[in-house]
Amino acid sequence: MRYLILSDLHGNRPALEAVLEAVPPSAFDRVVVLGDLVGYGADPNFVVERVRALDPVAIVRGNHDKVACGLASDEEFTPLAREAIAWTAAALTPENRAYLHALPAGPCLVSERVEVCHGSPVDEDAYVTGSVDALEALAAARAPICLFGHTHLAVVFERDHDRLLVRLPHSDDGLVVGLDPRRRYLVNPGSVGQPRDGDPRAAFAILDEEAGRVELRRVAYPIERAQAAILSAGLPALLAHRLVAGR
Ligand code: ZN
Repeated sequence: MRYLILSDLHGNRPALEAVLEAVPPSAFDRVVVLGDLVGYGADPNFVVERVRALDPVAIVRGNHDKVACGLASDEEFTPLAREAIAWTAAALTPENRAYLHALPAGPCLVSERVEVCHGSPVDEDAYVTGSVDALEALAAARAPICLFGHTHLAVVFERDHDRLLVRLPHSDDGLVVGLDPRRRYLVNPGSVGQPRDGDPRAAFAILDEEAGRVELRRVAYPIERAQAAILSAGLPALLAHRLVAGR
């Protein structure tokens, strides 16, 4: 099975459209979504409906999805995120809100070898950023390939016995990692709608289970369109500015 992996879409329509244009339907079999469909961006309904139409084989909720549909409070959010999620909650159609409300908490098994979560298999809201978090997450994961999001940072952690390798994409080429069946992996595709690693292009990944290969990719998108939508929606201008910086 070949999976197109999407995470942290955050209501960014032009970014999602660019990813789906960059990947022909023949390049993957099924879609998996790692949460945070909404929040920050100005097109939450479009993104939820587009994701629904993709009929993901696995999808988990993110922390922004939970707050937007009333499952969690915004007390952990920054003032900026809080303002954006209040706008999002009001903008969502009842049908799309119900879809977010019904999304499962991670981790969820996709196959014998692949599982998905938003933050970490330890806790759906935990951030896996460094080696300590990664080792904890790898120990908690049931499947040898665990896909996660939440940090908006593309990375592959690879565990070989007591050795942890951290693989970061660099340059325009992205990152291709061959998956050794004797090792365990934590894969973050990065964020479609709000990258924070200094590269403003939309991030996504393709996992080929049989070939044992994961590819982290980037695609440029018309950022100015996402910015215009944010500004005309009356969302904080900082949300538009940060998209250019990729921070
Ligand atoms: Zn997010």
